[in-house]
Amino acid sequence: MNTNLVNRLRKQIETLYQMDFYKKKLDGAGIKPSDIKTLEDFENIPFTTSPELLEELKQEPETCSLYSENVTRVNFSPSGKMLYPIYHTNNDLKFMHDVCARSLEAAGVKKGDICAVTFGYHLFVAGLFYQNQLEHYGAKVIPLGPGESERAVRLINDYQVTVLISNPTFSIKLAAQGIPGVRILFVGGEPFTSVEGYAEKVRQAFQKKITIIDSYSMAACLPIARSCRNETGLHIMDDFIYAEVIEPEFGRKVPYGEKGELVLTHLYKEASPLLRYRTGDLTVMENKPCRCGREFTLPKSVLGRTDEMLKIKGVKFWPSQVGTILREFPDVSNQYRVKVREIKGVDNLSLIIEGNENADAQIDALLKRLKQETLLTFNRISIVDSLETGPLVVDEREGRNF
Ligand SMILES: [Zn+2]
Repeated sequence: MNTNLVNRLRKQIETLYQMDFYKKKLDGAGIKPSDIKTLEDFENIPFTTSPELLEELKQEPETCSLYSENVTRVNFSPSGKMLYPIYHTNNDLKFMHDVCARSLEAAGVKKGDICAVTFGYHLFVAGLFYQNQLEHYGAKVIPLGPGESERAVRLINDYQVTVLISNPTFSIKLAAQGIPGVRILFVGGEPFTSVEGYAEKVRQAFQKKITIIDSYSMAACLPIARSCRNETGLHIMDDFIYAEVIEPEFGRKVPYGEKGELVLTHLYKEASPLLRYRTGDLTVMENKPCRCGREFTLPKSVLGRTDEMLKIKGVKFWPSQVGTILREFPDVSNQYRVKVREIKGVDNLSLIIEGNENADAQIDALLKRLKQETLLTFNRISIVDSLETGPLVVDEREGRNF
Protein backbone atom coordinates (compact mmCIF):
# COMPACT_ATOMS: atom_id res chain seq x y z
CA MET A 1 0.00 0.00 0.00
CA ASN A 2 2.84 2.37 0.86
CA THR A 3 5.19 1.05 -1.85
CA ASN A 4 5.37 4.32 -3.78
CA LEU A 5 6.08 6.27 -0.62
CA VAL A 6 8.78 3.84 0.54
CA ASN A 7 10.43 3.86 -2.91
CA ARG A 8 10.44 7.65 -2.93
CA LEU A 9 11.89 7.80 0.60
CA ARG A 10 14.64 5.33 -0.37
CA LYS A 11 15.52 7.37 -3.48
CA GLN A 12 15.65 10.57 -1.43
CA ILE A 13 17.85 8.88 1.17
CA GLU A 14 20.21 7.78 -1.65
CA THR A 15 20.56 11.50 -2.48
CA LEU A 16 21.04 12.45 1.17
CA TYR A 17 23.72 9.78 1.54
CA GLN A 18 25.92 11.91 -0.75
CA MET A 19 25.88 14.66 1.91
CA ASP A 20 28.38 14.29 4.77
CA PHE A 21 25.85 15.46 7.37
CA TYR A 22 23.34 12.70 6.57
CA LYS A 23 25.95 10.07 5.63
CA LYS A 24 27.38 10.40 9.15
CA LYS A 25 23.92 10.04 10.67
CA LEU A 26 23.02 6.96 8.62
CA ASP A 27 26.45 5.33 9.05
CA GLY A 28 26.23 6.00 12.78
CA ALA A 29 22.97 4.01 12.88
CA GLY A 30 24.37 1.29 10.59
CA ILE A 31 21.76 2.03 7.92
CA LYS A 32 22.41 2.02 4.16
CA PRO A 33 19.87 3.58 1.76
CA SER A 34 19.22 0.14 0.25
CA ASP A 35 18.08 -1.10 3.70
CA ILE A 36 14.93 1.02 3.46
CA LYS A 37 12.33 -1.46 2.23
CA THR A 38 9.39 -0.67 4.51
CA LEU A 39 8.16 2.26 6.57
CA GLU A 40 9.36 0.39 9.68
CA ASP A 41 12.90 0.41 8.20
CA PHE A 42 12.55 4.15 7.63
CA GLU A 43 11.46 4.62 11.25
CA ASN A 44 14.78 3.15 12.41
CA ILE A 45 16.58 6.23 11.07
CA PRO A 46 17.52 8.54 13.94
CA PHE A 47 15.75 11.91 14.15
CA THR A 48 17.44 15.13 13.07
CA THR A 49 17.27 17.80 15.76
CA SER A 50 17.31 21.53 15.40
CA PRO A 51 20.71 22.05 17.14
CA GLU A 52 22.35 19.45 14.85
CA LEU A 53 20.94 21.14 11.78
CA LEU A 54 21.92 24.64 12.95
CA GLU A 55 25.46 23.43 13.67
CA GLU A 56 25.75 22.24 10.06
CA LEU A 57 24.04 25.29 8.53
CA LYS A 58 26.23 27.80 10.35
CA GLN A 59 29.21 26.64 8.29
CA GLU A 60 30.24 28.52 5.16
CA PRO A 61 28.60 27.23 1.95
CA GLU A 62 31.93 25.66 0.86
CA THR A 63 31.91 23.35 3.87
CA CYS A 64 28.18 22.96 4.60
CA SER A 65 27.11 19.64 3.13
CA LEU A 66 23.48 20.81 2.84
CA TYR A 67 24.57 23.39 0.27
CA SER A 68 24.95 22.49 -3.41
CA GLU A 69 26.51 24.23 -6.41
CA ASN A 70 23.03 24.49 -7.93
CA VAL A 71 21.67 26.73 -5.17
CA THR A 72 19.86 29.77 -6.59
CA ARG A 73 18.15 31.18 -3.51
CA VAL A 74 19.06 31.60 0.13
CA ASN A 75 16.33 32.34 2.68
CA PHE A 76 17.10 32.94 6.33
CA SER A 77 15.68 31.68 9.56
CA PRO A 78 16.34 33.56 12.81
CA SER A 79 17.38 31.54 15.84
CA GLY A 80 18.42 33.57 18.88
CA LYS A 81 20.78 36.26 17.57
CA MET A 82 21.86 34.17 14.59
CA LEU A 83 20.46 33.93 11.09
CA TYR A 84 20.66 30.51 9.49
CA PRO A 85 20.57 30.00 5.73
CA ILE A 86 18.01 27.76 4.04
CA TYR A 87 19.20 26.83 0.56
CA HIS A 88 17.05 26.16 -2.50
CA THR A 89 17.99 25.01 -5.99
CA ASN A 90 15.94 25.89 -9.08
CA ASN A 91 14.45 22.38 -8.98
CA ASP A 92 13.50 22.91 -5.32
CA LEU A 93 11.71 26.18 -6.12
CA LYS A 94 9.95 24.75 -9.17
CA PHE A 95 8.73 21.73 -7.22
CA MET A 96 7.61 23.88 -4.28
CA HIS A 97 5.59 26.09 -6.65
CA ASP A 98 4.01 23.05 -8.35
CA VAL A 99 2.89 21.67 -4.98
CA CYS A 100 1.53 25.09 -3.98
CA ALA A 101 -0.32 25.39 -7.31
CA ARG A 102 -2.27 22.25 -6.46
CA SER A 103 -3.31 23.77 -3.13
CA LEU A 104 -4.18 27.16 -4.70
CA GLU A 105 -6.56 25.35 -7.00
CA ALA A 106 -8.04 23.45 -4.04
CA ALA A 107 -8.47 26.81 -2.28
CA GLY A 108 -10.62 28.02 -5.18
CA VAL A 109 -8.13 30.50 -6.69
CA LYS A 110 -8.72 30.96 -10.45
CA LYS A 111 -5.95 31.72 -12.93
CA GLY A 112 -7.35 35.18 -13.68
CA ASP A 113 -7.75 36.17 -10.01
CA ILE A 114 -6.12 39.40 -8.87
CA CYS A 115 -4.26 38.86 -5.63
CA ALA A 116 -2.70 41.25 -3.10
CA VAL A 117 0.06 40.14 -0.73
CA THR A 118 0.45 42.17 2.48
CA PHE A 119 3.35 40.17 3.94
CA GLY A 120 6.89 41.59 3.99
CA TYR A 121 9.27 40.93 1.10
CA HIS A 122 12.48 40.92 3.14
CA LEU A 123 14.72 38.17 4.49
CA PHE A 124 12.02 36.09 6.11
CA VAL A 125 10.40 34.83 2.99
CA ALA A 126 6.62 35.10 3.51
CA GLY A 127 5.81 37.77 0.89
CA LEU A 128 8.05 36.38 -1.81
CA PHE A 129 6.80 32.85 -1.17
CA TYR A 130 3.20 33.86 -1.96
CA GLN A 131 4.21 36.19 -4.81
CA ASN A 132 6.15 33.42 -6.58
CA GLN A 133 3.61 30.63 -6.18
CA LEU A 134 0.69 32.80 -7.33
CA GLU A 135 2.62 34.04 -10.38
CA HIS A 136 3.67 30.47 -11.18
CA TYR A 137 0.02 29.40 -10.91
CA GLY A 138 -1.07 32.09 -13.36
CA ALA A 139 -2.79 34.60 -11.07
CA LYS A 140 -2.08 38.34 -11.14
CA VAL A 141 -0.29 39.56 -8.03
CA ILE A 142 0.16 42.99 -6.44
CA PRO A 143 3.06 42.99 -3.92
CA LEU A 144 1.48 45.41 -1.43
CA GLY A 145 3.74 44.63 1.50
CA PRO A 146 2.75 45.35 5.13
CA GLY A 147 1.20 48.47 6.66
CA GLU A 148 -0.34 51.64 5.18
CA SER A 149 -3.85 50.27 5.34
CA GLU A 150 -5.57 53.23 3.60
CA ARG A 151 -3.36 52.92 0.54
CA ALA A 152 -3.82 49.13 0.60
CA VAL A 153 -7.64 49.46 0.69
CA ARG A 154 -7.57 51.95 -2.21
CA LEU A 155 -5.45 49.65 -4.40
CA ILE A 156 -7.46 46.54 -3.47
CA ASN A 157 -10.68 48.29 -4.56
CA ASP A 158 -9.25 50.11 -7.62
CA TYR A 159 -7.73 46.93 -9.02
CA GLN A 160 -10.65 44.68 -8.03
CA VAL A 161 -8.58 42.35 -5.89
CA THR A 162 -10.36 39.04 -5.27
CA VAL A 163 -7.72 37.17 -3.24
CA LEU A 164 -6.08 38.73 -0.17
CA ILE A 165 -3.00 37.32 1.56
CA SER A 166 -2.59 38.81 5.04
CA ASN A 167 -2.21 38.13 8.72
CA PRO A 168 -5.64 37.91 10.39
CA THR A 169 -5.26 41.13 12.44
CA PHE A 170 -4.42 43.22 9.38
CA SER A 171 -7.21 41.61 7.34
CA ILE A 172 -9.74 42.73 9.99
CA LYS A 173 -8.37 46.27 9.77
CA LEU A 174 -8.66 46.26 5.96
CA ALA A 175 -12.14 44.69 6.03
CA ALA A 176 -13.37 47.37 8.44
CA GLN A 177 -12.57 49.99 5.79
CA GLY A 178 -14.51 48.07 3.12
CA ILE A 179 -12.97 45.66 0.59
CA PRO A 180 -16.15 44.01 -0.76
CA GLY A 181 -14.53 42.34 -3.79
CA VAL A 182 -12.35 39.95 -1.75
CA ARG A 183 -13.58 36.36 -2.10
CA ILE A 184 -10.69 34.36 -0.65
CA LEU A 185 -8.46 35.24 2.28
CA PHE A 186 -5.14 33.45 2.92
CA VAL A 187 -4.07 33.98 6.53
CA GLY A 188 -0.68 33.37 8.10
CA GLY A 189 1.89 34.81 10.45
CA GLU A 190 -0.31 34.39 13.55
CA PRO A 191 -2.07 31.44 15.20
CA PHE A 192 -5.48 31.17 13.59
CA THR A 193 -7.41 27.89 13.57
CA SER A 194 -5.90 27.08 16.98
CA VAL A 195 -7.59 30.16 18.49
CA GLU A 196 -11.23 29.45 19.30
CA GLY A 197 -13.60 31.89 17.56
CA TYR A 198 -10.94 33.74 15.55
CA ALA A 199 -12.20 32.60 12.13
CA GLU A 200 -15.70 33.83 13.06
CA LYS A 201 -14.33 37.20 14.10
CA VAL A 202 -12.59 37.62 10.73
CA ARG A 203 -15.71 36.54 8.84
CA GLN A 204 -17.81 39.08 10.73
CA ALA A 205 -15.36 41.85 9.82
CA PHE A 206 -15.83 41.03 6.12
CA GLN A 207 -19.64 40.95 6.53
CA LYS A 208 -19.95 38.42 3.72
CA LYS A 209 -19.25 34.81 2.90
CA ILE A 210 -15.55 34.40 2.22
CA THR A 211 -13.27 31.38 2.01
CA ILE A 212 -10.54 31.53 4.65
CA ILE A 213 -7.41 29.49 3.95
CA ASP A 214 -5.05 28.81 6.86
CA SER A 215 -1.46 27.72 6.29
CA TYR A 216 1.37 26.29 8.31
CA SER A 217 5.03 26.46 7.29
CA MET A 218 8.42 27.12 8.81
CA ALA A 219 11.51 28.62 7.18
CA ALA A 220 13.19 25.20 7.10
CA CYS A 221 10.15 23.63 5.42
CA LEU A 222 7.91 25.58 3.15
CA PRO A 223 5.08 24.66 2.71
CA ILE A 224 3.91 22.08 5.28
CA ALA A 225 0.10 22.25 5.36
CA ARG A 226 -2.74 24.38 4.03
CA SER A 227 -6.52 24.18 4.17
CA CYS A 228 -8.74 24.03 1.06
CA ARG A 229 -12.07 25.66 0.22
CA ASN A 230 -13.91 22.90 2.09
CA GLU A 231 -12.29 24.28 5.30
CA THR A 232 -11.86 20.82 6.80
CA GLY A 233 -8.50 21.55 8.50
CA LEU A 234 -4.96 22.00 7.21
CA HIS A 235 -3.98 19.32 4.73
CA ILE A 236 -0.40 18.04 4.85
CA MET A 237 1.32 18.57 1.48
CA ASP A 238 2.03 14.86 1.24
CA ASP A 239 3.47 15.06 -2.27
CA PHE A 240 6.18 17.35 -0.86
CA ILE A 241 6.87 16.02 2.63
CA TYR A 242 6.36 12.87 4.64
CA ALA A 243 4.92 13.82 8.04
CA GLU A 244 5.01 11.72 11.20
CA VAL A 245 3.65 12.58 14.65
CA ILE A 246 5.64 11.18 17.56
CA GLU A 247 5.35 11.03 21.30
CA PRO A 248 8.09 13.57 22.21
CA GLU A 249 9.67 11.78 25.17
CA PHE A 250 10.36 8.38 23.60
CA GLY A 251 10.06 9.11 19.88
CA ARG A 252 7.37 6.50 19.23
CA LYS A 253 4.81 7.18 16.53
CA VAL A 254 1.38 8.09 17.93
CA PRO A 255 -1.88 6.91 16.29
CA TYR A 256 -3.85 9.30 14.08
CA GLY A 257 -5.90 11.72 16.14
CA GLU A 258 -3.47 11.81 19.06
CA LYS A 259 -1.35 14.77 19.99
CA GLY A 260 2.40 14.68 19.47
CA GLU A 261 5.39 16.36 17.88
CA LEU A 262 5.45 16.80 14.13
CA VAL A 263 8.43 15.21 12.34
CA LEU A 264 9.13 16.05 8.69
CA THR A 265 11.04 14.50 5.81
CA HIS A 266 11.34 16.16 2.41
CA LEU A 267 10.50 13.79 -0.42
CA TYR A 268 12.47 15.52 -3.20
CA LYS A 269 14.48 18.47 -1.86
CA GLU A 270 18.03 18.91 -3.19
CA ALA A 271 19.50 21.65 -0.94
CA SER A 272 18.89 21.95 2.84
CA PRO A 273 16.75 18.78 2.85
CA LEU A 274 15.18 17.52 6.08
CA LEU A 275 15.24 13.89 7.20
CA ARG A 276 13.03 12.95 10.16
CA TYR A 277 13.37 16.52 11.44
CA ARG A 278 11.81 17.17 14.83
CA THR A 279 9.92 20.44 14.42
CA GLY A 280 9.21 20.83 18.13
CA ASP A 281 5.64 21.78 17.21
CA LEU A 282 2.81 19.96 18.93
CA THR A 283 -0.07 19.01 16.71
CA VAL A 284 -2.67 16.37 15.93
CA MET A 285 -2.76 14.63 12.54
CA GLU A 286 -5.86 12.88 11.26
CA ASN A 287 -6.23 10.50 8.32
CA LYS A 288 -9.43 11.91 6.87
CA PRO A 289 -9.78 12.02 3.09
CA CYS A 290 -11.23 15.36 1.94
CA ARG A 291 -13.26 15.99 -1.24
CA CYS A 292 -10.24 17.90 -2.62
CA GLY A 293 -8.21 14.67 -2.71
CA ARG A 294 -5.88 15.30 0.25
CA GLU A 295 -5.80 12.74 3.04
CA PHE A 296 -3.76 13.85 6.04
CA THR A 297 -5.03 16.80 7.98
CA LEU A 298 -4.08 18.93 10.99
CA PRO A 299 -7.50 20.00 12.34
CA LYS A 300 -6.06 22.96 14.27
CA SER A 301 -2.63 23.68 12.80
CA VAL A 302 -0.09 23.99 15.62
CA LEU A 303 -1.23 24.36 19.21
CA GLY A 304 0.37 27.57 20.50
CA ARG A 305 2.88 30.24 19.62
CA THR A 306 6.57 29.46 19.41
CA ASP A 307 7.62 32.90 20.67
CA GLU A 308 6.17 32.21 24.10
CA MET A 309 7.43 28.66 24.15
CA LEU A 310 9.39 27.11 26.99
CA LYS A 311 11.18 23.82 26.88
CA ILE A 312 10.29 21.81 29.96
CA LYS A 313 11.47 18.24 30.53
CA GLY A 314 12.47 18.33 26.85
CA VAL A 315 8.91 19.10 25.72
CA LYS A 316 7.84 22.35 24.12
CA PHE A 317 5.26 24.08 26.27
CA TRP A 318 3.10 27.13 25.55
CA PRO A 319 1.90 28.72 28.82
CA SER A 320 -1.24 30.11 27.15
CA GLN A 321 -2.47 26.52 26.67
CA VAL A 322 -3.14 26.52 30.42
CA GLY A 323 -5.59 29.43 30.12
CA THR A 324 -7.58 27.55 27.50
CA ILE A 325 -7.85 24.48 29.74
CA LEU A 326 -8.82 26.51 32.84
CA ARG A 327 -11.91 27.78 31.01
CA GLU A 328 -13.31 24.24 31.28
CA PHE A 329 -13.28 24.45 35.09
CA PRO A 330 -16.01 26.69 36.56
CA ASP A 331 -14.52 26.87 40.07
CA VAL A 332 -11.22 28.45 39.04
CA SER A 333 -10.68 31.84 37.44
CA ASN A 334 -8.55 32.47 34.39
CA GLN A 335 -5.78 34.02 36.53
CA TYR A 336 -2.77 31.74 36.78
CA ARG A 337 0.99 31.61 37.06
CA VAL A 338 3.32 28.87 35.84
CA LYS A 339 6.55 28.30 37.81
CA VAL A 340 9.48 26.27 36.53
CA ARG A 341 12.42 25.33 38.75
CA GLU A 342 15.23 22.89 38.50
CA ILE A 343 15.44 20.35 41.32
CA LYS A 344 18.43 17.98 41.22
CA GLY A 345 18.84 18.56 37.49
CA VAL A 346 15.18 17.82 36.73
CA ASP A 347 12.61 20.43 35.67
CA ASN A 348 9.86 20.93 38.22
CA LEU A 349 6.64 22.48 37.02
CA SER A 350 4.00 24.06 39.21
CA LEU A 351 0.84 26.03 38.67
CA ILE A 352 -0.81 28.61 40.90
CA ILE A 353 -4.42 29.49 40.15
CA GLU A 354 -7.22 31.53 41.63
CA GLY A 355 -10.19 29.45 42.68
CA ASN A 356 -13.12 29.21 45.09
CA GLU A 357 -13.65 26.68 47.93
CA ASN A 358 -14.76 23.94 45.49
CA ALA A 359 -11.66 24.23 43.33
CA ASP A 360 -9.52 21.78 45.38
CA ALA A 361 -11.83 18.94 44.40
CA GLN A 362 -11.05 19.59 40.74
CA ILE A 363 -7.27 19.35 40.97
CA ASP A 364 -7.05 15.72 39.81
CA ALA A 365 -9.27 16.36 36.81
CA LEU A 366 -7.26 19.46 36.00
CA LEU A 367 -3.95 17.58 36.21
CA LYS A 368 -5.35 15.00 33.80
CA ARG A 369 -6.46 17.65 31.29
CA LEU A 370 -3.10 19.45 31.53
CA LYS A 371 -1.29 16.18 30.81
CA GLN A 372 -3.57 15.48 27.82
CA GLU A 373 -3.12 18.93 26.30
CA THR A 374 0.51 19.75 27.11
CA LEU A 375 1.98 16.21 27.41
CA LEU A 376 3.55 17.40 30.67
CA THR A 377 2.96 16.22 34.21
CA PHE A 378 2.60 19.22 36.54
CA ASN A 379 4.35 18.53 39.83
CA ARG A 380 2.05 20.74 41.90
CA ILE A 381 -1.11 22.83 41.61
CA SER A 382 -1.87 25.43 44.31
CA ILE A 383 -5.21 27.18 44.59
CA VAL A 384 -5.19 30.70 46.06
CA ASP A 385 -8.04 33.16 46.76
CA SER A 386 -6.32 35.97 44.96
CA LEU A 387 -3.22 35.81 42.78
CA GLU A 388 -0.65 38.58 43.20
CA THR A 389 -0.02 40.65 40.10
CA GLY A 390 3.03 39.39 38.23
CA PRO A 391 4.25 37.59 35.13
CA LEU A 392 2.46 34.62 33.59
CA VAL A 393 5.61 32.54 33.78
CA VAL A 394 8.36 32.49 36.37
CA ASP A 395 11.26 30.45 35.09
CA GLU A 396 13.83 30.05 37.85
CA ARG A 397 16.08 27.68 35.99
CA GLU A 398 19.73 28.75 35.55
CA GLY A 399 20.15 31.34 32.79
CA ARG A 400 16.55 31.14 31.69
CA ASN A 401 14.82 34.20 33.08
CA PHE A 402 11.94 35.30 30.94
ZN1 LIG B 1 -9.57 19.53 1.21
